[in-house]
Amino acid sequence: MKQTCPICQSAAEVVALDTTFLQIRCAKCDCFKITQSAIGDCSTSNPKFVRYLASAYIRANQGITVDVDVIDGFAGLKVKSVSERARILLQHLYFQHPGAGEMFDFPLNDAPALIAITWSEQWSEVRYLFTRVLRDGGFLEHANPPYSHSRIPGGIITPAGHELIDSLKVSAPGASKSAFCAMWFNPRLEVVYINAIAPAIEAAGYEAVQIDRVQHINKVDDEIVARIRTSRLLVADLTGTRGGVYYEAGFAAALGIPVFLTVREKRRHKVHFDIRQFNCIGWDPDALPAFTNALRLRIEALIGRGPSIKVTPPPPGRPAPAS
Ligand SMILES: [Zn+2]
Repeated sequence: MKQTCPICQSAAEVVALDTTFLQIRCAKCDCFKITQSAIGDCSTSNPKFVRYLASAYIRANQGITVDVDVIDGFAGLKVKSVSERARILLQHLYFQHPGAGEMFDFPLNDAPALIAITWSEQWSEVRYLFTRVLRDGGFLEHANPPYSHSRIPGGIITPAGHELIDSLKVSAPGASKSAFCAMWFNPRLEVVYINAIAPAIEAAGYEAVQIDRVQHINKVDDEIVARIRTSRLLVADLTGTRGGVYYEAGFAAALGIPVFLTVREKRRHKVHFDIRQFNCIGWDPDALPAFTNALRLRIEALIGRGPSIKVTPPPPGRPAPAS
């Protein structure tokens, strides 16, 4: 049945799987499942997220199920820089055509996919990434210029392009998989860390890092600061209203490291007034699995799955790029 994609509003195939889930196949977002309640959040003329960013996120995280928690996470998606998007495009070309001097080419109907893959809003941005950033930067050569309005001619990745791809494998921004956990040292919270926070981080593909709070009790020292600096994300549990936890969360936020706030639901009213406007995931000691799931989804929605999760293998018949 031809319908509209609830996320990007392109034409899509929509199939109801049961009373709860719909399967969507869309030229931009590709394939995903969505719950009926999440559809309600998307259908307004002014949803609380940016449609093209959510579409790009789904494209990058195939197989995701979009529910209301994921929709909440979409609100935190940020526009990616031009250079990061050009790197994503170059890596995409390499993944499809890893051979030395191997030609890439695009059927015209690939345009929607390329818009989403490069976190773009429209085709003109994809053209800019191809021409001004990658071609003029010396990372790509095209066989048949000039570019037409809606078509990118085939081409190859240059030696400089391959060098850039190799360097990204070692020093990709966000290559760190550490997730720093800032929380009050308290045996009752330790149980929450072990049974809910650490499993959520690991399920999202990151490694939970908790400093030994007995040694570092009530002080933020050099080791903590150094660990935060090298983290990909920080989870701060605000239960107990500890100054150190607030400091660590603020320090990470100032460095541009994504911060995920959590608090015991019963203590939500104690969260400092100045940061109450930030989305904070509540937990209940009797319902930790639901909290683990919500935290995992929030992490995945905001920064994507971490490197500890295996990526989808390349299509059959195509050798995997050497790592
Ligand atoms: Zn879509």
